[in-house]
Amino acid sequence: MNAEIVAIGSELLLGQIVDTNSAWMAQRLAGVGVNLFYKTVVGDNPDRMLEITNRAMERSDLVITSGGLGPTQDDLTREVIARATNRELVMDPELLAQIEERFRRRGFIMTENNNRQALIPEGAIPVKNPNGTAPSFIVEDPRAVVYCLPGVPFEMKWLFDNELVPYLRGKFGLFDSIYSRVLKVSDLGESGVDDLVGHLIANSVNPTVGVLAHPGQVDVRITAKSATRKEADELIAPLEEEVRNLLDGHVFAVDEETMPQVIGRLLRARGLTVACYEGLTGGVIAQQLQDAGEELFLQGTIGLQPGVLQSLLSASESSLSPDELTNLLMEDGAALADGLASGIRAQTGASLGLAVHSAPEGINPTENLSAGRTYISVSSADGTWRREYNFAGPGLPDRTRAALNALDLLRVSILQNWNQA
Ligand code: ATP
Repeated sequence: MNAEIVAIGSELLLGQIVDTNSAWMAQRLAGVGVNLFYKTVVGDNPDRMLEITNRAMERSDLVITSGGLGPTQDDLTREVIARATNRELVMDPELLAQIEERFRRRGFIMTENNNRQALIPEGAIPVKNPNGTAPSFIVEDPRAVVYCLPGVPFEMKWLFDNELVPYLRGKFGLFDSIYSRVLKVSDLGESGVDDLVGHLIANSVNPTVGVLAHPGQVDVRITAKSATRKEADELIAPLEEEVRNLLDGHVFAVDEETMPQVIGRLLRARGLTVACYEGLTGGVIAQQLQDAGEELFLQGTIGLQPGVLQSLLSASESSLSPDELTNLLMEDGAALADGLASGIRAQTGASLGLAVHSAPEGINPTENLSAGRTYISVSSADGTWRREYNFAGPGLPDRTRAALNALDLLRVSILQNWNQA
């Protein structure tokens, strides 16, 4: 069975409200194993609503509409569905009594236009809406089942969970559900991931493999369709192992776990602490280390002021004077990052020092992937780890990317230096 969502409302098209209903319904449909192939937004225009309803009924088994069931002149869903299914609109006495009762209980005067809400296409199955006056209804047409829900989100959600899903289970004997596992990947771009697991993306059927890119992170989602979570886990496990082997240590977390949580877990298990210096990220890393665990994070330092640099560099065990060191290292971003990581570690007594230093290029930086070099160093008593990147932008995507890469380098250096679970 495949479904289609039609969200109705001109305010959605104008961008005055965001169509959160469709996104919410899409997740719920996936959860009960219904394939969703199309989502459409249409304004309160009867011709265009009719056109899209007809098209949806042609290509989908189930059409779910949201919105346009209210009492006003621009609430046209019931008229349009009646036309699309060649039915008259008829007054449903039970719905009318329910609406009248609701008004009476609340002490409101029921105006004439509220009667419209008790009109449904002839032969439609009325569905009571205990949270509002706009009733819902189902038309079982030979072309498709049309399920009309109100637009108000909490009314729609209640009806979806308590009426629509049980109806679908009964009518279509649904038993499959969709379960996913998300592997979060760092320090490999989307194309890098595709290069390694692209053949699985193209060829897997159940489970399927898909990717979603964020700045500095790619999610590899393995999705299985099965009757139970246990069965899904059994389907997912071998493919997950294959993906993990191909991605070779780049998977840093699974499902809901975040990078700060991973770092917190690794540091805590080994009794380690960390301090950081941030040239590019301006506190983003400090915030995430704070999330990792307040007791694990000794200090965060921000800013490229010469005084800050000199005091950090003089703390790092160098025989050069701070001035000599600064002059020398300003020309060598990689060495500067190493010196700063070692300096912040020495100054604070932390087990690990993390430094991000960037050298932007050009005067018109872009929001994302701005030209320049970014150097990330991690220093411990036993060694230094460094990564270098060809971006150095002041925008949020670059800062997010640099922060995630920095925490990932911290993760890898902990795993290499303190080799325990
Ligand atoms: P009611 O008669 O109870 O108002 P209705 O079916 O006529 O219900 P609409 O008038 O289309 O619903 O929408 C009512 C409100 O619900 C909108 O003003 C908006 O706040 C919210 N809403 C409608 N559609 C959506 C949607 N797709 N996503 C998020 N919110 C929505």
